[in-house]
Parts: sequence; C-alpha cells; structure tokens
Amino acid sequence: MDRRKFLLNTALAGVALALPYRAFSNRFLRSDFSTIRRNVGVYTERGGTIGWLINNDALVAVDSQFPDSAANCISGLKDRTDRKMDYLINTHHHGDHTAGNISFKDYANHIVAHENVPGYQMKAAERRGQEVVAAQLTADMTFTDKWSQDVGDETVHATHYGPAHTGGDSVIYFEKANIAHMGDLVFNRAYPYIDPGAGANIENWVKVLRIAADELPSDAIYICGHGNSNYGIQASKGDVLRKADFLEALLAFTQNGINAGQSKEEIAGAEFLPGFEDFQAPGWGLTLEFNINTAYDELSSS
Ligand SMILES: [Zn+2]
Repeated sequence: MDRRKFLLNTALAGVALALPYRAFSNRFLRSDFSTIRRNVGVYTERGGTIGWLINNDALVAVDSQFPDSAANCISGLKDRTDRKMDYLINTHHHGDHTAGNISFKDYANHIVAHENVPGYQMKAAERRGQEVVAAQLTADMTFTDKWSQDVGDETVHATHYGPAHTGGDSVIYFEKANIAHMGDLVFNRAYPYIDPGAGANIENWVKVLRIAADELPSDAIYICGHGNSNYGIQASKGDVLRKADFLEALLAFTQNGINAGQSKEEIAGAEFLPGFEDFQAPGWGLTLEFNINTAYDELSSS
C-alpha cells in the first residue's frame, strides 16, 4: 500500500474527535478500498481494518468499524456488486470492529463470530450506557473452535486458537486468496491493546500467533486490525512472528523487573522494550507503559 495513504488526514481526525469512540480512531488511515490478492481486499477509514471478499456468487466482510464508516464501506461495496452480503464476520468484540454491525442490519444475511463475542460485546456496551446497548447488533451464527464456509469460488475459515488479545479472537482465512485477517491479534509494529477483563492472555497470545503463522502457508498475506504509520496494516509471516516476539519479550522484560525487586511503576517507566524500538503507539494513546502494567498484572496473578 502507498505510504502516502498513511499520512495524517486532519479532516477525518476532526470528525473522529466528535465521536464517542475517538480512542480507537486511526489517524494514520484515510478512507480507502484496495484489493490485496485475487478478489480479497481491505477498506480503511476509522477503527479496525475491514476485510472483504467479492466474487460472482458471494460477498463477505470481516469487521465493521463504526456505524458511519460502515455505511461508507457498504456504499463502496454496492458500487462493486449487486449482491446482498452473505456473511459479516467479526474477528472479536471490540467496538472499533463491531459498532458498525448495526449498519449491516438489512445488508448482511448473517453475522458470524466466536461464541464468546456476543456476550463480551453486550457487556462492553452496557458499560457505555443504554444508548450504546440499543445500537448493538450481535452475531446470529457462532462457533467454538472453527467455522468454514464455501463462498462462491473461495472458502473462508474462522479459527479460534484460544485466549489472546481477548477471549474471543478469530483468524479469518481466505484459502484461495491465501489471505488471513488477524483482527487485533496483530497491531503491526504497534503497542497493542490488551483486554484481560474480556479474557485476554499475553502468554497464550504468543502461542496463538506462532501456531497460526505455522499453520498457514509461508507466503500468506496478513491483514492487521491496526498498524503503525511506517508499517501499515498489511503484513507478512515475519511481521506476525515479530509480534509474537514482542509479546514474549514484554513478559520476559516485566518478569526480569519483578525478579530484580523493581516496583510496577519502575518497570513500566521504560521508554522502549529493548530490541523493539521500531514499535510505536498505533495512532491513539496506547503506550508501552499500558502494555507493561497489563503484563505485570498477568504475571502477578499466575
Ligand atoms: Zn481489539
């Protein structure tokens, strides 16, 4: 993808500031449809990257951003196909990936997600108030470990590898295009959000990434929920493994601090994780300090 597309779009950032989900706005991206391989591509505007598949006999989307950007995405899809959507798949429950589900109400025949997603989604909405609860649309088809479906001349697989970024993450793999949408399992070279309140586990997240990268072909292209401004949201196997290495190093660095008798504040004061100086905030205020604090809590409770 063209680097210029990641330049700060001040108009979009201004709109984002007026909206309740501003914490998840991705200032590095402006609205854009781009094809990646075969007939699978991405739509970027605000929030987690939307993936799509368009062929003669099927239309699929992965994640839905926010109601307004979802409506823009749908309008662009309608320019490209007359089909109604067969499946909208949610990679996990976070608002910047599911708040737009409501815009797909009369467009998508089914919403698919891991079985933990609807519950987490409603619980998170309840914390934001009745208005947000009323604006939720949750999956009508759920699965425990794996869901696969032929969609025209493509086959799509959704696989849950266990707790990681949340307790309900899935990797969505388009087999013939050889493209995997990782949701927020990969913030490409960016400090990730980690959600232990909804089942996240950093130690298992490392395993999930390595298993997924090992199972998929080595030349698979990965779509990331978020990325840093230099690396973008498209990734390789090496980038996925780099994320696993980062999370492993995050735990080791934090554990070393604990073993050395440092306080949580002292450990979390690190400017960089040694060896991972190329990681940065993903476009909003996620810091290494937040990551270390979360790692500290996980290590202290295990
Ligand atoms: Zn997320």
